[in-house]
Amino acid sequence: MDNEVSFWEQDSFLKPYDLIVVGAGIVGLSSALFYKQSHPDTRVAVLERGFLPQGASTRNAGFACVGSVGEHLADMDKESEANIKKRIRRRYEGLKLLKSTLGEKEIGYEHCGGYEFFRSEEDFNNVAPHIDQFNRWMFELVDEEEVYEARKLQDYPVIYNRLEGALHPGKMMQTLAQKASRAGVEIKWNTTVDSIAKDGTVHLEGDYSCEANQVLVAANGFVPKLLPEIDIRPARGLLFVTDNIPNLKWKGIFHHDRGYVYFRNIDDRLLIGGARNLDKSAEQTDKFGENTTIKNYLTNFASNVLKLPDDWQIDRQWSGIMGFTSTKTPVITQLDTHRFVAAGLSGMGIAIGMDVGRKAAGKLQ
Ligand SMILES: Cc1cc2nc3c(=O)[nH]c(=O)nc-3n(C[C@H](O)[C@H](O)[C@H](O)COP(=O)(O)OP(=O)(O)OC[C@H]3O[C@@H](n4cnc5c(N)ncnc54)[C@H](O)[C@@H]3O)c2cc1C
Repeated sequence: MDNEVSFWEQDSFLKPYDLIVVGAGIVGLSSALFYKQSHPDTRVAVLERGFLPQGASTRNAGFACVGSVGEHLADMDKESEANIKKRIRRRYEGLKLLKSTLGEKEIGYEHCGGYEFFRSEEDFNNVAPHIDQFNRWMFELVDEEEVYEARKLQDYPVIYNRLEGALHPGKMMQTLAQKASRAGVEIKWNTTVDSIAKDGTVHLEGDYSCEANQVLVAANGFVPKLLPEIDIRPARGLLFVTDNIPNLKWKGIFHHDRGYVYFRNIDDRLLIGGARNLDKSAEQTDKFGENTTIKNYLTNFASNVLKLPDDWQIDRQWSGIMGFTSTKTPVITQLDTHRFVAAGLSGMGIAIGMDVGRKAAGKLQ
């Protein structure tokens, strides 16, 4: 039974929407923005369960990347070359779209370059012979020459990627939310969707419901809770930022172990995260929280491999939830007459999130 709703409320706030988007992450807000821009006379709402976005888009590491040689090599064991090439091009084009839509300054973008970091010459030698091959790919795919280059950094072997950079996920999402609001999208925070009926009725926690001609579910790792038929697995990621470490020598963004571990410098603080491969089944969860094995690994890595000074401390720690498909390719699909899904960003949402939102908006009427 619905809450008691007045005639006036039903005739204003609760009038049927043309589009309701579930989830105010990068995909949800981008899809609402692009839809509203191409259909200015429609009524569009984004419903978000949190007071802030509460998934991955404001809780990630802020790496704007196209992928490392080690990651591409690891993917070649599991996927066709065509798939990997498509993904690389998608990331490259997706980053251009993000920067041109929101503005580099507004999202705190810094073109610092990316480094694939190796703990030993032996690990490096397993990957480095493929640099030329992936440089040829990059030229063929995105017309960029000599993208990857072997270097030495603080005595460790690295592969530099000149296309990558870092951004501020909070600023990125704030700018996106403001742009969507200005375009006329209603963003409703603290609004949890309980279920979505086939006729487009969206049932909310607290007994309210609203109607929409089209409902797009952009809840990424939380999609299975609303639509169990969609094959997306949640995956948790842990991050922490240290206190200030004067003259912290690591500058740029760094990937390690096929991208599972990552770190960067934020104004002389180290941000480090990942390593969910150490306990993959425990991390296949949509609950925020800490895994002690992973935290210990990251702490030891910071102390012993990156050689932070003895007295470093964690200033802030948090986790975020991703959504993975079995192929790392996002799902952008129409389920039935009124319901659509855009989710399963599989760990690289900054690069592809806005483009996934734009593609999803293109599927709507
Ligand atoms: C720790 C970590 C580090 C990462 N680092 C990077 C990185 O450096 N670079 C990169 O490219 N990618 C990174 N990612 C991945 C990237 O952040 C994601 O791929 C991307 O943000 C996913 O965007 P999304 O909009 O699909 O999902 P989300 O941002 O998760 O948005 C989904 C939203 O749906 C909401 N929601 C869920 N259920 C409901 C409901 N029932 N009712 C209402 N709202 C609901 C959630 O609260 C959430 O806000 C990282 C992810 C994590 C977790």
